[in-house]
Amino acid sequence: MASAVGREEKEVLNAYLLKNHLKRSEQREAILDVFLRAEKHLSVDDLLGLVQKRHPDIGRTTVYRTLKLLQEAGLASELPLDGESRFEPDYNRAHHDHFICKSCGDIFEFSSPEIERLQDLAAEEIGFVIQGHRHQIFGLCRRCAAKANEAHR
Ligand SMILES: [Zn+2]
Ligand SMILES: [Zn+2]
Repeated sequence: MASAVGREEKEVLNAYLLKNHLKRSEQREAILDVFLRAEKHLSVDDLLGLVQKRHPDIGRTTVYRTLKLLQEAGLASELPLDGESRFEPDYNRAHHDHFICKSCGDIFEFSSPEIERLQDLAAEEIGFVIQGHRHQIFGLCRRCAAKANEAHR
């Protein structure tokens, strides 16, 4: 099952495990592999479902703990949402923000240099040192908006 997908990420994970005196485990690597191939914003249960297709023996606690570990290692980031958090690969990814459909839960990525520039300016004005930010814009995706429109007619 050697493949180029996530080779670098695997190295990052193993370096992190070594540094923190944690053991390498095949389960963790399998979870990382599925996580990277999915390329989506996954809840713990989404990921669990995908993982169990190939590894029915891996349980929810292991998936959850591995996601936390991946986060600490800089390989995953969490989108804290109402209800369930979602996780996405974060290694070597350009900064982006999210539109979140309140109806179907779909998540769309966007990035705008203009918005980034404006918030830097706004921070500069009050001497605020930005360490990070997260835009979560809630609404309806195109499909759900069309459905809502029809229902109103
Ligand atoms: Zn939707
Ligand atoms: Zn994203």
